[in-house]
Order: sequence, then structure tokens, then C-alpha cells
Amino acid sequence: MRPITIHNVHTHVFTLRNIPKRFLMRGLVDIFKRKVPAKIAAWILRNIIPFNHSDKPQRMAVFAEAAIHNTQEDIFKQLVGFYPPGSRFGIMSMDFDYMGAGKPEKDFMSQLEELAVLKSNHGDQVVPFIAIDPRREGITELVKEYINEHQFGGIKLYPPLGYFPFDERLFDIYAFAEERGIPITAHCSPSGVHWQGRKKEEWRTHPRTGEQLKARSKRKFTDYFTHPANYYWVLDKFPNLKICFAHFGGAPEWDKFLDVSWPLRKQLPKENIKEERFVSRQDVSWLAVIIDLIRTPLYPNIYTDISYTAYKPRYLPLIKILVNNDKLRNFILYGSDYYMVLMDESERAFSITVRGFLGEDDYRQIAETNPKKFFQFNSHKE
Ligand SMILES: [Zn+2]
Repeated sequence: MRPITIHNVHTHVFTLRNIPKRFLMRGLVDIFKRKVPAKIAAWILRNIIPFNHSDKPQRMAVFAEAAIHNTQEDIFKQLVGFYPPGSRFGIMSMDFDYMGAGKPEKDFMSQLEELAVLKSNHGDQVVPFIAIDPRREGITELVKEYINEHQFGGIKLYPPLGYFPFDERLFDIYAFAEERGIPITAHCSPSGVHWQGRKKEEWRTHPRTGEQLKARSKRKFTDYFTHPANYYWVLDKFPNLKICFAHFGGAPEWDKFLDVSWPLRKQLPKENIKEERFVSRQDVSWLAVIIDLIRTPLYPNIYTDISYTAYKPRYLPLIKILVNNDKLRNFILYGSDYYMVLMDESERAFSITVRGFLGEDDYRQIAETNPKKFFQFNSHKE
């Protein structure tokens, strides 16, 4: 059998220098609240980790070790060492400059410049995604520059940093991406890195549905930005956009899918059913919303990746079933969310567990066949 060229479509190589200091300090406070063993706490203190949510000290230490590398190239080299030679990696940049936590030591522009060097050093192995934020001035031109001049291979959305994906300031980028078939990966699991400033008054009403949005915490509130139903307003306008919903909705939503009795839902097609678009509904799992988005013939280029989420053994049978569903099989992508996933599982164990459980045919489908199609776009400048 021909060997599989593994594509890990979702990884990160940004370093702690790319993350704002105030955010780092909050991470530190979190760690102390968790009462970690003194020795570990001291060790973490030395190295300052921001978004760690692991309660297992040894995993925390492994995660910390990955995060404290000096350059993105260093982290990338470690990632490559977990996979067979010739594997390819989608690398998601992050724009932390507008999350209300001050400026990082190395801002987003220098993160991008470093990534461009990484790309030119490693060619096909590296597929960098440029993060977009509607609050960054000149973002459309920046996207075009990095795609056209620096061979970037995609676009990354991270709404919980404080914006809705249907923000009209992003529409020129969507038009550009739709025309060329450029892949967009949208963070899509609850919580994670989120807006650190004060909640804005205008956020209390959903701009499209008019729902009143309230939440116990800022972290919970920012889930409204991330909710996959928000993309109906993007896709209504750009139906051929190629979007991957990262993490397939995320672990809490998979638990909801597995554990909760479902409300009666109307059958497809249901393009005009308004309640499907409510982001305040707690009774529908994001996993189900993403499955609907992939299945509807209205939007032919919707993908999802299993990054991070597949670390839990209880999810593997459901992944197997979904990959073997006719309507979904061509749209599920292998990704790990390196080095975030190290909070729960080692990188190599993650990939081998997924591969062993799925078997070679299914693994080839999600780690080679589908990613090749996802990554492919018209790279000619107009
Ligand atoms: Zn990620």
C-alpha cells in the first residue's frame, strides 16, 4: 500500500513572546487558584504559562516545555519530530494584539514575518494561515500580501478574541478567499483564549437575531462569538467559501451530543428556519450545527477538523461513525492542535491513537485525501 502523506491541518508554533504580558499574568493567577503542587507551581512560575487548563501536573510540565521555546522555528522542529518525514502542517497564527490585554513582546506583525521565514525554509511542509481580526486596520491588504507574496496557504478566524465572524469589515477578505478557494479555519469550541477587556454594551444584543445575550463569565460570554450558527450570515453572502470548523465543536459540545436527550429538530433543507441560528440555545450541540452546515447542499465547501477534541477515547467511536457517513466522509480533516493538545495527550500518542482506531483507509481519508483538497486553491495572482 502507498504510504500515507500525513497532513496535520491544525497546529500552532507561536511562542510566549507572542502573547500579551497582562494575559500571561492572568494565566498565572489561574494556576495558583488551582492549588497545583508547590514544586510544579514554582516551575511554572519561572516559565509563565497563560492558557493552561490541565489539572495534571506532568502534562502541564510537558505543555510548558513546548511553549517556552524561543522561536517559532524551534517549536516547529519539535512538532516535525513527532511525524514521519514528508508530513505537512497547517500552522495557525494568532493575532493577540486586539484581545484587550496589551501588546505582546513580539507583536502580530513580527509573528507573521517569522512565519514567512519558516515557510521559505521548509516549503511544502509548512502551510501557514494568516489570522484575521476586523479591528486591525489594513487587514485585507495584509492578507493579500501574505497569500500572494509569502505563499501563505490559508486564513484563520478566532472570534472569542472579541468579534463576530459576520463583521462586515471582513467581507472583502471573504470575497477574495471565495474567489480563489483559499481555506479558512475558524476556531470552534467553547472557551479557550478569549477577550480580556471589559464587556461592551453593544454585545448584549445579537446583531443579527436580536437575542439578548447574557452569561455568567466573560469566558462564557465569548462563546456567543464562536458559535457555529453565526456563520450562516457569512455563508448566505459567500456560499462557496471554504471554511473548516476547528475542533468539530469541542469536547464540551461532544459530551452534550452524547449525553443529552435531543429536542425534536426539523429536517433539511431548512435554510429559512430562524431558530436554528440562535446562538443562545443551549439544547443543540455545536457538533450538530456543524454537521448540518456540512450536509446542506447550499454550502458545498464546509469542512471540520478533529484537532484537540479527538484526545478523549470516548469520542473515537463517534469519529469513526462520522468519517464513515457518506455525507461527511469527504469533509473531516485530521489535526491535533499541537502544542495545545499537550495539556491532555502527547502529540505522537494522539496521532497514533486516531490512526490505530480508524484504520488505514479512514486515516488516509482524513489525513491525506481531504486535507489535500482543503489546502488546494488557485495561487495565481489576478
Ligand atoms: Zn488551535
